[in-house]
Amino acid sequence: AAYGSLPGGVSIEVSGLSYTYPGSNEPVLKNINFTLEPGESLAIVGYNGSGKSTLAKILLRIVDFDKGSLKVNGVDGFSKFNATVRENVGLGYVEQLTEDAAIAKAVHLAEADKVVESLPCGLRTTLESPGFESISYPGMGHRAHSSHHGLSGGEWQRIAIARAFMRASRPEVDLLLFDEPTSSLDARAQSQIFDTIEKISRSPSGKKMKSVIFITHRLSTARRADKVAMMENGTISEFGTHQELLGRNGSYANLYRASV
Ligand code: ADP
Repeated sequence: AAYGSLPGGVSIEVSGLSYTYPGSNEPVLKNINFTLEPGESLAIVGYNGSGKSTLAKILLRIVDFDKGSLKVNGVDGFSKFNATVRENVGLGYVEQLTEDAAIAKAVHLAEADKVVESLPCGLRTTLESPGFESISYPGMGHRAHSSHHGLSGGEWQRIAIARAFMRASRPEVDLLLFDEPTSSLDARAQSQIFDTIEKISRSPSGKKMKSVIFITHRLSTARRADKVAMMENGTISEFGTHQELLGRNGSYANLYRASV
């Protein structure tokens, strides 16, 4: 891992973080504060437009912030302009994919006429290994040797997600960020994908090896994270464990009760 000395993922400390998009007069993030211990997972939830993706992009350093600080393993100055720092940050990112985008991506990558050829070699090994254990990709094993002609949109999307998972599972990656990777899949597929995320983030013995942050609008998946951040109108309105937030009877509890 890039931050090698600390086992089990990274610590993250965000304080007083604010951001306004260029040309906008309304801040999109206002005074964001939270702390994650090494190996803790975080679900970021909230309504559309509350700032979830922007916060993810700041954590990835795709966009900069105006005010406040972001420390990873106690190291400040995570500047997007500092190439050396950036190269040493072990980040894995799985983006939000609409079905069309996933198809375009997977078709582009499929040079041979077998599904298995369009998968990264690590996954191919897994698909072909008898146990199909280490990183299985739900629902695609049976297609490993079939032609890619006639695959459905959902199957292409799974291939695109599988490729992203393979990149994210590299040992030097110690923080995984998922921005609604499953938004257009059904509940069962979503749940299988979260099983895979769990698997990627742990060693074979079950020890946490990577920190995981995921954005979701499905509160049934949010409850699987160690901590939940409820975002409203550019701020984190509630932060804590799923049980703590339910106990507060605030926005998270309302959203959760409406969803189950
Ligand atoms: P969420 O992920 O919770 O839906 P976003 O972070 O995508 O929220 O967006 C938060 C707000 O920032 C929205 O009002 C959105 O219109 C605005 N926004 C997002 N991206 C940009 C951008 N590149 N430029 C200007 N405004 C943006």
